[in-house]
Amino acid sequence: MSISNERRVLVVEDNAKNSKLACAVLEIAGFEAFTATSAAEAVAACTRDVPDAVLLDIQLPDRPGDQVLLDLRALPDMAAVPVIAVTAFAMAGDRERLLDHGFDGYIPKPIDVATFAATVHACIDDARHA
Ligand code: MN
Repeated sequence: MSISNERRVLVVEDNAKNSKLACAVLEIAGFEAFTATSAAEAVAACTRDVPDAVLLDIQLPDRPGDQVLLDLRALPDMAAVPVIAVTAFAMAGDRERLLDHGFDGYIPKPIDVATFAATVHACIDDARHA
C-alpha cells in the first residue's frame, strides 16, 4: 500500500451522519480519520496536530469554506497540507471555482463510497508532487 506515510486525515463536517460515513470509508481504506464539526474546531485540531490532509465541508455553520481554507493555510506547518473541498453544491463550475480558489481537490456530496478513499489518496499524492 502506498498510503502508509500520509494517512492522517481530518474530516471537517457538521453533519454527524456524513462525518461518520466519511470516517468509516477512510478507516476501511487504511487512513486514520479524526473529526471537527466547525471551522473553529478545525483550526484548533490543526493547531494541535498537523494532519496529512483535510477534507473540508465548505458549508459549515460558523464560517464560509473559502475563509476556512485561508484560516487553515495560515497555521504553522499547514501551508502545504492538501485541503479537499467536500460540497453538496452541484452547480456547473463549482469544481473549477474551488480549485481556482486554492483547494487541492473537490469531492461532491453525497460521497461515492466506492471511489472516495482513492480520490482522497490521489489528492494527497498530487499535492505532494505539485
Ligand atoms: Mn455542512
